Amino acid sequence: MSTTYHRSWAEPYKIKMVELLKMTTRGQRLRAIKEAGFNTFLLKSEDVYIDLLTDSGTSAMSDRQWAGLMMGDEAYAGSRNFYRLEKAVQQYYGYKYLIPTHQGRGAENIISKILIKPGDVIPGNMYFTTTRLHQELAGGTFADIIIDEAHDPVSEHPFKGNVDFDKLDRIVKQYGASKIPYISIATNVNMAGGQPISMANLRELREYTHQHGIRVIHDMTRVAENAYFIQQREEGFKKRHIRDIVKEICSYTDGATMSAKKDALVNIGGFLATNEWDVFEEARNMVVVYEGLHTYGGLAGRDMEAMAIGIEESLDDNHMHARVGQVEYLGHKMESFDIPIVRPVGGHGIFVDARRFLPHLTQDEFPAQTLAAEVYLESGIRTMERGIVSAGRNADGENYYPKLELVRFTIPRRVYTQAHMDVVAEATQVVLKRRNRIKGMKMVYEPKYLRFFQARFERL
Ligand SMILES: *Cc1c(COP(=O)(O)O)cnc(C)c1O
Repeated sequence: MSTTYHRSWAEPYKIKMVELLKMTTRGQRLRAIKEAGFNTFLLKSEDVYIDLLTDSGTSAMSDRQWAGLMMGDEAYAGSRNFYRLEKAVQQYYGYKYLIPTHQGRGAENIISKILIKPGDVIPGNMYFTTTRLHQELAGGTFADIIIDEAHDPVSEHPFKGNVDFDKLDRIVKQYGASKIPYISIATNVNMAGGQPISMANLRELREYTHQHGIRVIHDMTRVAENAYFIQQREEGFKKRHIRDIVKEICSYTDGATMSAKKDALVNIGGFLATNEWDVFEEARNMVVVYEGLHTYGGLAGRDMEAMAIGIEESLDDNHMHARVGQVEYLGHKMESFDIPIVRPVGGHGIFVDARRFLPHLTQDEFPAQTLAAEVYLESGIRTMERGIVSAGRNADGENYYPKLELVRFTIPRRVYTQAHMDVVAEATQVVLKRRNRIKGMKMVYEPKYLRFFQARFERL
C-alpha cells in the first residue's frame, strides 16, 4: 500500500536582515489617505504597513547581489560591470547587443524613437502604460491583438497573453507591413493580470512575422514568470528548466526592452537588447542623449553588477516556484473568502475585480480607485488601481473605458511572508463585508501624462 503526501513549497532562502514596519491607527490612515487625494501613489511609504503597490524595484536583493554592489567599477566608460551584464544578457537571454538604461521606459523611449515613424501602427498583446505612451509620442498608434479572453476576468484560459492571429492579420492587411515597424509582445502580460503567452503562440508568431517581414520586440520585464507558467501548463515543458524556456522565448523575437526592477531582482535598472546591428548602432548613439554613455546608460557600475547577478538568480526553478507559489497562496485565500479575483491567478499579484466587488458604482465613479483607498483605510495595505484612471485618454482627449476595472495586489519578490498574505486576505474580506456602504469618487486634479500616478480624488 502506498500513501502520497502533500508536499508544500517553501522559500529557497532564509532571512539575514529585517526591516521594521510602522503600524498605524485608523485615524492616522484616514488623515494620510485624504492628504494623498485618495490616490495610493501619493501616500508616504512610512504610512504603509504592507506595501503591495508594485513589484517594481521592491525586491529583496540576495547577499550575493549586495556583495556585488561592492564590486562596482565606477569608471565613466567601459566599466567591468557593463561587460559582465552584457555577457549575462547574451548567455541567458540570447540577444546579441545590449544598451543599459536607467529602467524599462528608458529603453522604450529609445526603441520607439528609432523604429516608429508618424502614422505607424504597433500591434501588441495588450497595452502597457509607458510602452504605449512612448509609441504614441513617437507618432505611432497602438493596436490591441490579444485574445478576447484576456479582457474577461472570469475566463480560465491558461494563456491569456496569447496573440489573436485574426486580429493581427486584419491589421496587417489594412495598413500593410510597411506601416508596422514591429509587433510589441509582452511576456506575462501585466495589464491582463500577469497572464502568460504560450510557446506555441510565440512559435506561430515567429512564422507569421517571418512571412510578412515584421519585427517582434519583446517586453521581457516578466519573462521568467511567463516561463514558469509554460513549464507548469504547456504540454512538453514539465521537465524543461526555466532558464531553457526563457532562452527559447527570446529566440523568437528580434529585440527586447527590460525593466530589471521586476523579474531581474534589482531596485533600479533596465536595458534595450537587439539582434540587429543597425538598430544597435542607432540606439547606442541615442542613449547618450537621454540616458548616459552606452556602457552605463544611467546606471552606476554597481547597479549593473547587481542586475547581472539578479538575472541569474531569477532563472532558478526553485526561486520561481516560491515566487509564484506565494501569489497563488494569496489568490486561493481570497477566493475562499469569496473575494472576486481575476482567474487564473497571474504571476506577480492578485487582481481584484472592482466591478464585481463594488457593483453599485459606475465606471465614472472609479470603482478600482475607490477600493484601493478603502483597503488602505482598513489595514494600511497599499495596492493600486488598474482601471479607467490608469487607462487615461486617447490623442483626442477622450477617456479610454477599459473592460477591466481592477485593484492590483502586487507581491514584491522575496520580501513578505505567508503570514503577511493572511493579513492581506483577511483585511480585504472585512472591506467586502461593508461594501454596500462604500461610495464612489470624483477626480479633482488630473495631470496630462500617466494620470494614475498623480491624480487626486474626493469622495462623492
Ligand atoms: C514596469 C514595466 C515597464 C516599464 O518599466 P519601468 O522600469 O517602470 O520604466 C514596461 N513594461 C512592463 C510590462 C512593465 O511591467
